[in-house]
Amino acid sequence: MRIAEVFHSIQGEGRLTGVPSVFIRTSGCNLRCWFCDTPYTSWNPEGEERTVHSLVEETTAFHCGHVVITGGEPMLVKDVADLAARLKDAGKHITIETAGTVDLNLPADLMSISPKRANSTPNPDTGWAERHDARRHRPDVINRLTTDYDYQLKFVVDRPDDLDDVAKYLEEFPHLDPARVYLMPQAIDRNPHAEKCAWLGDAAEKRGWKLCRRLHIELFGNKRGT
Ligand code: SF4
Repeated sequence: MRIAEVFHSIQGEGRLTGVPSVFIRTSGCNLRCWFCDTPYTSWNPEGEERTVHSLVEETTAFHCGHVVITGGEPMLVKDVADLAARLKDAGKHITIETAGTVDLNLPADLMSISPKRANSTPNPDTGWAERHDARRHRPDVINRLTTDYDYQLKFVVDRPDDLDDVAKYLEEFPHLDPARVYLMPQAIDRNPHAEKCAWLGDAAEKRGWKLCRRLHIELFGNKRGT
């Protein structure tokens, strides 16, 4: 499978924020969000072909209890199921970070889903707007992942108007727990991140959701491998 990077850091987003983790980042995505913070896995995919065995060896060498399999879109990669199973056998806590548009049956302790809303659609000049919009909403996949796994939902919010869109989305899935809904500022640099966190925290609390600060941006800025 094609892997963009493997690194040890802390989880920067969601329920496990601050937990030391090894990140395995697959390369390749079926979407093209305009704000993608890992364009080297989507717009311009990079990476090396790796075996499951070599990834298990590299990951376990960190002696870290938490592993995050992210992307790109890791659920596109069939071998990720085998990778997750072997890491689970090695006693690791597995988080899968996905946009929730592709289903893959695999062992996971936390399904961390970031649904992509209309505010993610790229400029039509890129040639990707139509494909992106046709693929980004898969209620069947969301229903399966949130029924069969422990889950959290992370929405990227760029402007205050986006909050009504999140509420509309959640109406479609009445079984989803508002306490597992996180709002993440659309920002990859410290200053815009801080500005958006300032209004997003109150807005999230009023609706029973949570603010999801991006701790890795606060600590490291826009730096690859963190
Ligand atoms: S789904 Fe994630 S990896 Fe894919 S383009 Fe959007 S932000 Fe980037």
